[in-house]
Amino acid sequence: MSERDDLVLAYRILAAHGVVDAYGHVSLRTARNPARYLLARAMAPELVTADDIIEFDLDSNPVKDPGVALYLERYIHGEIFKLRPDINAVVHNHSPSVIPFGVTNVPLRPLFNTAAFIGDGVPTFEIRDFQDSGDIIVKTPYLGLSLAKTLGERPAALMRGHGAVVVGESLMLAVVRSVYLERSAKLQMQAMLIAGAGGKIVYLDEREAAATGARQASAGTWKRTWELWCIKARAQIESEQKAKRRRT
Ligand SMILES: [Zn+2]
Repeated sequence: MSERDDLVLAYRILAAHGVVDAYGHVSLRTARNPARYLLARAMAPELVTADDIIEFDLDSNPVKDPGVALYLERYIHGEIFKLRPDINAVVHNHSPSVIPFGVTNVPLRPLFNTAAFIGDGVPTFEIRDFQDSGDIIVKTPYLGLSLAKTLGERPAALMRGHGAVVVGESLMLAVVRSVYLERSAKLQMQAMLIAGAGGKIVYLDEREAAATGARQASAGTWKRTWELWCIKARAQIESEQKAKRRRT
């Protein structure tokens, strides 16, 4: 499997879990050159193939003129890669259950084991603090850098009225975290609804979040998840290719 093929699977997995719809993107820093990253051309994630993957420098300029439309928000990726040398994959999504936590003062908290990475919370990027044009799209290097600074050392940041950015030391980690951030946000809303105003919700405490995160990393928990999701995504791609061959 090439890096491009892995990235295609990441796009498909995020779409299959409702983390991205027609919008949203995922990037991968290249192993050969840490000053380059791969990202699809501007298109719906569920339709991405290896031919749609383009190589960018960290200023988010394509290395070769691809002659196709590019994501306006690609600066999110380049600026995070510049500021976080430890990070090799970035997901930007409009993850539906996460959005309410970016527009209220209710903090997203780790509710169950696979969302332990939330730790003591994630920051929210308020774009009004950095521009007053009324546009909420991160479409300049300055806005990308501002978002990267808001993210800091955390695994994710919410983007008020827009979505989220989720990062990982590997593509697998960024994708797994994106899926479980969405799931955790949904479960938290359900728990809050059941508990009602003033009701009690028991979240993972600091010790549990730290211990669970460490165990999952060493026990290969994510590897099992990732392999399952990749098998499903590959099957989907193969059936699309078969259908295409039948039509031609
Ligand atoms: Zn966006």
